[in-house]
Amino acid sequence: MNILRLQGIDKKYASSEDYAVKDISLEVKQGEILALVGESGSGKTTLLRLISGLEHPDAGSIMLSGQTMVQGNKSVPANERNVGMVFQDYALFPHLNILDNVKFGIRDSQGNAQDIAKETLKLVGLNEKYTKYPHQLSGGQQQRVALARAIAPNPTILLLDEPFSNLDVVLKDQVREEIRQIIKKSGITALFVTHDTRDALSTADRVAILHKGYLQQLDSPKRLYENPVNPYVANFFGRRNQVLATATDDGFYTSFGFIADERSRNFQNKVKILFRPEEIKIKKSLRQALIGTVRQCAYFGDHQMVRLADESGKCVYVRASPTRHFIKGSRVFFTIRSFKVEDAF
Ligand code: ADP
Ligand code: MG
Repeated sequence: MNILRLQGIDKKYASSEDYAVKDISLEVKQGEILALVGESGSGKTTLLRLISGLEHPDAGSIMLSGQTMVQGNKSVPANERNVGMVFQDYALFPHLNILDNVKFGIRDSQGNAQDIAKETLKLVGLNEKYTKYPHQLSGGQQQRVALARAIAPNPTILLLDEPFSNLDVVLKDQVREEIRQIIKKSGITALFVTHDTRDALSTADRVAILHKGYLQQLDSPKRLYENPVNPYVANFFGRRNQVLATATDDGFYTSFGFIADERSRNFQNKVKILFRPEEIKIKKSLRQALIGTVRQCAYFGDHQMVRLADESGKCVYVRASPTRHFIKGSRVFFTIRSFKVEDAF
């Protein structure tokens, strides 16, 4: 069942020429974590504000749990939508202890607010800290209080706007995993916004990618990475090499050498060969391999990124083992384990 359904959503701010979001249709399923990724200004926060009721769209409809929230001029007020929000800066009340922070969002009609708040704090692993104040907690703990406050009222959907961006890198990996587990354990449906592709790929069940207000692709992390629908999506999730080639009866001629491949028969003349840096395998001999000249190596601890050039200077990037030694200007033989072929017009 779909918890959230957006159809044909447009939004243009009065002060702006361009649409902040345009023609967005998407669905979030019960219990799913959907990540919304995109560069700064791509419309992510606008979409969350439209869902929560802080903004009204120029066109389109929004449904939550099968109920229409927005259609034409109809709009259910924000405080009646039962949407939970977690912001980048946590927005905790500094003068309330964490139990009171979490109690704050629970409506009276929900029975014993104290018990619900305690139970939710237990869920996020902070049951020892009821009486502490926000400033006495670490960034990661404050983030969990904010999460507890948002989920305590049992919202239909949880919206998180850049929830990890205030955390340092080491803490971030840990908090990301904790938050994912808490959300999954509580069975809540979540839509979280991030500009960080690692957050999206590692945390979400599916990922929607926005560019200039337009939805580019919505898919599982694996499919987005392996089958991007356009070059923008391909390059958003890490580098993708593109080499021009000529198809012949038995393979593809490239400026790095010949690749024997039966798929060439399905193509005429000019094609693009597309592959990620990790698809390149370095070889000892030139036998059935391609050849490139080492231009640059960048060391990243767990791998190195090596730039190889053809004779005209056109480059491909290779993800290589960090222990291998490359000498600038030397020649390297390689094969491509798997690649996509597209017509080049
Ligand atoms: P993101 O969250 O992806 O960074 P936003 O949704 O904040 O993107 O912004 C999308 C576009 O809408 C941007 O071009 C931004 O400048 C514009 N925008 C956002 N909020 C407002 C506003 N209140 N008034 C005018 N323009 C806005
Ligand atoms: Mg934003």
